[in-house]
Amino acid sequence: MSGQYIISHDVGTGGSKAVLVDAAGRTLHSRFEGYQVSYPRLHWAEQDPGDWWRAVTTSTRRLLADSGTRPDDVLCMTFSAQLLGVVPMDGDGNPLRPAIIWLDARAGKQAQQIMRKILGPRVFAKIVGAEATGKDVLPKLLWLKENEEQVFSKTDKFLDVNGYLIYRCTGNLLCEWSAASATGLFDLKKKRWSDLLIRFFGLPREKFPELRRSTDEAGRLNRRSAEELGLREGTPVICGAGDVLAAAVGSGAVGEGEGHAYLGTSGWVGVVMERAYTGKSGVASIQSADPSKCFLLAEMETAGACLQWIADQFYRREQKDPEVANVFRLMDEAVLKIEPGSDCLIFTPWMYGERCPVSDIYVRSSFINLSADHRREHMLRAVYEGVAYNLRWMLELLREKFQYDQDTLRVVGGGARGDPWLQILADVTRKQVERVVAPQEAGAVGAALIAAVGLGIYDGVPALKDVVKVDRAFEPDRSNAEVYDRLYGCYKDVYGCLRGLYRKINSDRFSAIEE
Ligand code: ADP
Repeated sequence: MSGQYIISHDVGTGGSKAVLVDAAGRTLHSRFEGYQVSYPRLHWAEQDPGDWWRAVTTSTRRLLADSGTRPDDVLCMTFSAQLLGVVPMDGDGNPLRPAIIWLDARAGKQAQQIMRKILGPRVFAKIVGAEATGKDVLPKLLWLKENEEQVFSKTDKFLDVNGYLIYRCTGNLLCEWSAASATGLFDLKKKRWSDLLIRFFGLPREKFPELRRSTDEAGRLNRRSAEELGLREGTPVICGAGDVLAAAVGSGAVGEGEGHAYLGTSGWVGVVMERAYTGKSGVASIQSADPSKCFLLAEMETAGACLQWIADQFYRREQKDPEVANVFRLMDEAVLKIEPGSDCLIFTPWMYGERCPVSDIYVRSSFINLSADHRREHMLRAVYEGVAYNLRWMLELLREKFQYDQDTLRVVGGGARGDPWLQILADVTRKQVERVVAPQEAGAVGAALIAAVGLGIYDGVPALKDVVKVDRAFEPDRSNAEVYDRLYGCYKDVYGCLRGLYRKINSDRFSAIEE
């Protein structure tokens, strides 16, 4: 092998981050390129696939220039990509319309129809594990069939975000297992498209691309893509995985039963499991980046987004202050001045409805028990704590329904950069919380490590456990944990007390989602 580095792209919603990683998973350089989401109608969210590609090519070239890396030193390229995107491709390899991305909830009516076809939402949730929503891939495909018949019939293959980028690199039309499993149309046990479900919902089987493992080579850079990227023609492209699964690898929690939490804009808890469980209580079972394992995923819609909201509403002046380099740092300092429990102020982090631990599109955030004695710092601490309560609830669901029982939790994502949030998480969950080195880059690094397995540098995904390094561990503090135990009980009661009220307030506003 001539080269020494892997170029990995974390292709997210707001932009793509390229990292140059060595075989030990150390990030040597990174480059971010942003792009837009367009919202042409209520509940719609689309992106131009060409923008993803432009971000990938521009950031690759800049990465090479910044680091002085020669194309011959690049072992391979790979991706950690946002899941649940739909890119209908024509027979000439062009997208027939903008991509319908994960945020897009247009297919509410089709989600309802799907559930009715399987005896209604209750029975559907019992069989599949969660109610179908307008954000899922299957309802989106049915939406296209009903509303854009021309696009649907001209579609040669439906690709996802990763599939589109692999196509631009290699000319091959593929879908990686973890991305396929997120569509709900993948047979987790047999590791192939579920012909039964595809037929049952009247979809043409030939429009689904060939499947590949995360560690498989998707192909090689062709002349055109190599020129655009500034890389050598013939450089291998390894599939990589969906962002959640790549982050799991980047967290180092890759062994059987090991879990990690993600504190980014959204949040999740994920656990690697050999068994292909049927999902339940909003916990989904999908394909792990490790081809031989599955992955339990409990996802909350807004984690760091709640903190961003506080920053934008209550720390506006500080954000404009040139003396303040990073407002989150300042907020981290402010949090330490407030006692655990925020003087009995409770925040529920359900800013855009919730998936897990409760699955409810109507519910929203609240500050419960706000008094005139509370200051903005109490509200800030309550936000950190509210996200931690939600994560504890998710961890409890994983323990009760899926036998997850580890005492240590790895944490990745931008929210893991500050210490106070991780200490709060340790105290609220009574688990040892471990932060990995460079937690915000876990997705990109995780994909690079998956690629390193694909290249044969490591002997399987479980071997990566020792490659990912822990930066700091946070031990639960017993007296803080006692304060949180009591408030956590109240936190869980909030949903039961207020769910009817939220439905009453929001059912008219959100009815378009279900129409
Ligand atoms: P995503 O890729 O999902 O958009 P990131 O992993 O980039 O998210 O994380 C972004 C979030 O990280 C922000 O919303 C913010 O809440 C949080 N964050 C960033 N820096 C810090 C910090 N120093 N302390 C606490 N939280 C932080």
